[in-house]
Amino acid sequence: MNRIKIVGLGIVVVFCAALIPSSAEAQSEPLQLKYLGAAGWEISDGNVVVLIDPWITRAKYGGGGHPDDTRPGYARDDIAPSDTVLIDQLISRADFILVHHGHFDHLGDVPYIARKTGAKVIGTETTIMILRAYGIPNEQLYAVGGGEDYQFENFSVRVVPSIHSALGEKHYFDTRRYDRNTELEAPLLINQFIEGGSLMFLARFQSHNVLTMGSMNFVERDLEGIHPDILLAGVNGSRLGLYNYDERLLKVTGYPAIVIPTHWDNFRLPYGFSQEANIARNLVPFVSAVANISPKTRVIQPVHLETITIE
Ligand SMILES: [Zn+2]
Repeated sequence: MNRIKIVGLGIVVVFCAALIPSSAEAQSEPLQLKYLGAAGWEISDGNVVVLIDPWITRAKYGGGGHPDDTRPGYARDDIAPSDTVLIDQLISRADFILVHHGHFDHLGDVPYIARKTGAKVIGTETTIMILRAYGIPNEQLYAVGGGEDYQFENFSVRVVPSIHSALGEKHYFDTRRYDRNTELEAPLLINQFIEGGSLMFLARFQSHNVLTMGSMNFVERDLEGIHPDILLAGVNGSRLGLYNYDERLLKVTGYPAIVIPTHWDNFRLPYGFSQEANIARNLVPFVSAVANISPKTRVIQPVHLETITIE
């Protein structure tokens, strides 16, 4: 379709849609991001399916074992549960699994999903040692320390060093690590899912770069120059104990066009339970903070198991 516009002193400008070269963006499939709850995502661009911290079991009716968890439920020395029936309903394919750190609300379902899908898993050495204990073959496992930038077929990922949420009013601190000398026997107890250091990922899809977070914390200097168009921003209460968290995060990441809050929900409740309290406490203030700091940013509030499509 041609449109003709008369400008000023009779200068004719012709807009011809057919003559505008179509960009790579126009030809590629939209990015689809399904929120799995906690810090968990299934992201696909039509070429690859990438899971981020898929925690589907959601340790029903309680919790226990997480460093900030004092409520009854699973205890720290219980065997870490994995709801394989629910996982089978929700996960059919994965090419990659990116794991931010080793706590059970990030890694707890990865042994089963990695075995089921054959996905390549990228995580800290601690994460990889846990997966080895569960018998995941070495060919699937990529131990990283932060700083790596790996090219795979149809997908590349930069690993960004990071730090864990400042839990327990900033008193949380855990330097334990697993390495090749650590003896672990599956199934592991919840308290054997140690943090083991924390990471972020810049996941590059066909037409979008997604910067992922699994904690409410980051190392500012390690994010310099990383300007994703989509940021999965850690948005939970402990961020309020950090200096100007929202402002520093948005600024250093170049005020991303799209920000999607992650890890904001109560991950101890199964899917289908009301998350209104956490929405009111975490999402509502964050949305208004972003509106002030970066008015052009679009904040998308994710809903459990619903897919966000970005053209
Ligand atoms: Zn954690």
